[in-house]
Amino acid sequence: MPISLEKYREPAGFEWSVLPPLPINGLSGPHVESAEHYLCRLAWTVGVSGQEICRLREPSGVASGHNIGSSRGICGPGPNFLRRIYRLEQLTGVDTIRCGTFAVINDAISNVGVNRDTTSRRWCPRCYYEWDSSTSWEPLSWLVELKSDCSLHGCLLESRCHHCGAEQPFGRNYSERRNCRKCAARLAGAGRFPARDERSRWVDGNIDSLIAMCSVPGQASIQRRAVAVYVEGLIEQFDGKCIHSYSRNAVMQARQCRKGHKITLRALLNLCALQGVPLVDMLQAPRSSSSPALINLLENFRAIEIEDRRHRTRVSAYEKCVRTVLDQCAEDYLPSMKFILHALRMNRELARELSVNAYEDYEAAYRAQGAYSSTIHRARAFTLALRLFDDSSVRHSKLRGVVTGAQIIESATDVPRDVALRVAKSARIYWDALVQAKLDIVDGRRERGVR
Ligand SMILES: [Zn+2]
Ligand SMILES: [Zn+2]
Repeated sequence: MPISLEKYREPAGFEWSVLPPLPINGLSGPHVESAEHYLCRLAWTVGVSGQEICRLREPSGVASGHNIGSSRGICGPGPNFLRRIYRLEQLTGVDTIRCGTFAVINDAISNVGVNRDTTSRRWCPRCYYEWDSSTSWEPLSWLVELKSDCSLHGCLLESRCHHCGAEQPFGRNYSERRNCRKCAARLAGAGRFPARDERSRWVDGNIDSLIAMCSVPGQASIQRRAVAVYVEGLIEQFDGKCIHSYSRNAVMQARQCRKGHKITLRALLNLCALQGVPLVDMLQAPRSSSSPALINLLENFRAIEIEDRRHRTRVSAYEKCVRTVLDQCAEDYLPSMKFILHALRMNRELARELSVNAYEDYEAAYRAQGAYSSTIHRARAFTLALRLFDDSSVRHSKLRGVVTGAQIIESATDVPRDVALRVAKSARIYWDALVQAKLDIVDGRRERGVR
């Protein structure tokens, strides 16, 4: 069924306005204009601000201008943007503005589904360089975090000023938009074209098709049920089979989804990669897409990891720490992941989603050490060792504290000398890796702040 926004009609609202019926650009294609840019262009045409237009048709006087500083407030996905789009369509008489939003997939994916950081913009430096106000616009695809390049020029999308490193907010006026808000330098440039692997091209291609689907006037909306049907099919296919941990992770996300949780675009793409089906096919024909694939991709499946801008520093510090501990401690004693997550203030779901391979490798190695009951003494010894290393006099004693720590552990717990020594060694490696990770986070933040 095509999307109906009639439910947002307000009896006391204005039925007309002086806003011109500006057409939205690039309908029915992967380069459709974002409603956020449309609003900015519309406001510029009539000489007011986007905020003022959003307030225009509020009969109750309640401002709806709030939150338009974020792309989610106008383009979605989320709870409020459709009401705003309905008003804009009423005011302009243009009923295709919704095609520049994520309205079609709003019911199927979670609010953070396309972009965790919806407050700062990304742009193609070449598009800005060749800007022509009569033929240029900013496409919806720039809002999708997982999309890395411009579909017109193929260069990387950028998110910081070349000169001062500042991020650029949404809601900027049309005429100032292509200059840095902080130093006023032009954001246009020649663009960077790094080599790209097949997977990242696959992701970009799928996002282009998804945007093209969203941009067709009259397109039926994708129901949450579609994802659930696909997931049911996958679960039927996988249940009872011994599958690789990455696939298992994908199926776990799928089970969450069965419980009514909405899914993120990142998880959805991984579920498609698992079967080797295009995202759009999966959304439109979920049942047949979930039938057994011709080629079994499960055996060697590696989750697709797509960089996340907002959490980049923390996630890469986490990943490095996990890899170091895994490489150097696995033979002696691997501590529970919760220590690393807690120390780096990482949410487990975030780690699983943004760094799925490192996460799953670690968890698999941790489980391989034996059941909880068989590792409990070592776990206690490890906690004690960590407390000991907080004391710098222990850290600076024999062999960087390992021998001293092992002696204390042996006398205070039930573990024998050799185990105490191995646990102390692990704890020391973990302690160093963590200190390094915290330094990396501080450095990363400093680099983000000033350049
Ligand atoms: Zn471009
Ligand atoms: Zn700047």
